Amino acid sequence: MSSEIEKVKVLIIGSGPAGYTAAIYASRAGLAPVLYTGGQPGGQLTITTDVENYPGYPEGIMGPEMMEDFRKQAERFGTQVRYGMVTKVDFSVKPHKVIVDDQKEIHADTVVISTGASAKWLGIESEERLNGKGVSACAVCDGFFFRGQDVAIVGAGDTACEEASYLANICNKVYMLIRRDEMRASQIMQKRVLNNPKIEVLWNTETDEILGKDEVEGVRVFDNKSGEKRNLKISGFFVAIGHEPNTSIFKDFLDMDESGYILTKAGSTKTNIEGVFACGDAQDHIYRQAVTAAGTGCMAALDAERYLAAQE
Ligand code: NDP
Repeated sequence: MSSEIEKVKVLIIGSGPAGYTAAIYASRAGLAPVLYTGGQPGGQLTITTDVENYPGYPEGIMGPEMMEDFRKQAERFGTQVRYGMVTKVDFSVKPHKVIVDDQKEIHADTVVISTGASAKWLGIESEERLNGKGVSACAVCDGFFFRGQDVAIVGAGDTACEEASYLANICNKVYMLIRRDEMRASQIMQKRVLNNPKIEVLWNTETDEILGKDEVEGVRVFDNKSGEKRNLKISGFFVAIGHEPNTSIFKDFLDMDESGYILTKAGSTKTNIEGVFACGDAQDHIYRQAVTAAGTGCMAALDAERYLAAQE
């Protein structure tokens, strides 16, 4: 552990729209925020292509480019953006103790948590082994590599439907593997999938094993009613079964719901710990949009600013 302890007024953890927006507001308020990017600088938007629903971009913008702009805007007003991962916190003391990369210790008067969420996986061995070799959790990022080929996608929510439709535009055929006999997705998304001749929906179907040694060559699926197994020849295997919040390092201190989303006091970003604020997907499993994340990031900075003013 490095011996020099740094003191900051506002420490922001995470670099998606929520974190950078909190940084823009906190730096313009003269609070000299320090922001740690986490393992995926720019967050989930850096693994998408076109963003067409963020207001102010009538022609749309590429996700990575948009996040570069967020970062530049935060830095312009004095935010220190640092590459690093917060690995431990202690919110039982004031100022709050935060450890970065298991080494550096920071004492922060306020902490803004904007750590976002990550894709869920099935958890089978072949999925992990072939990850990046045909297994992906982002059709929009990786669909291009399977142009004209056959692929499969797991999931039956809005994300799976959206991604299946996206893949159908690029690929030859899309198998949609659905574990129940109905979909969770909204009616309009279901219709889009069911009316697409390039998508074949396999109901009551689960994944036994993804086949292939060095890259995906197929998948063995089974019907969970009859037990019958069959192999599908595919070269891409997409997982779209939801997300989980990146909040495990806070679990000893913060109130969370059963899925790990941080609970905030209604109409604010306040957590159960004074001086700790949560924004973006780490506390929102309902809207999960860039613009709502940015909105709550703004709220977190304003809440932190008011908290600091009240302490003086
Ligand atoms: P959801 O949690 O809504 O859906 C997850 C899906 O994955 C479910 O169908 C679930 O099956 C399935 N699933 C979960 N675990 C497994 C497993 N181990 N094996 C097989 N299947 C599994 O997640 P989404 O990411 O789709 O959506 C999250 C939220 O975002 C929702 O509120 C959604 O409406 C919203 N959204 C909206 C969009 C839009 O409006 N354009 C686009 C994308 C998302 P089961 O149903 O059996 O539980």
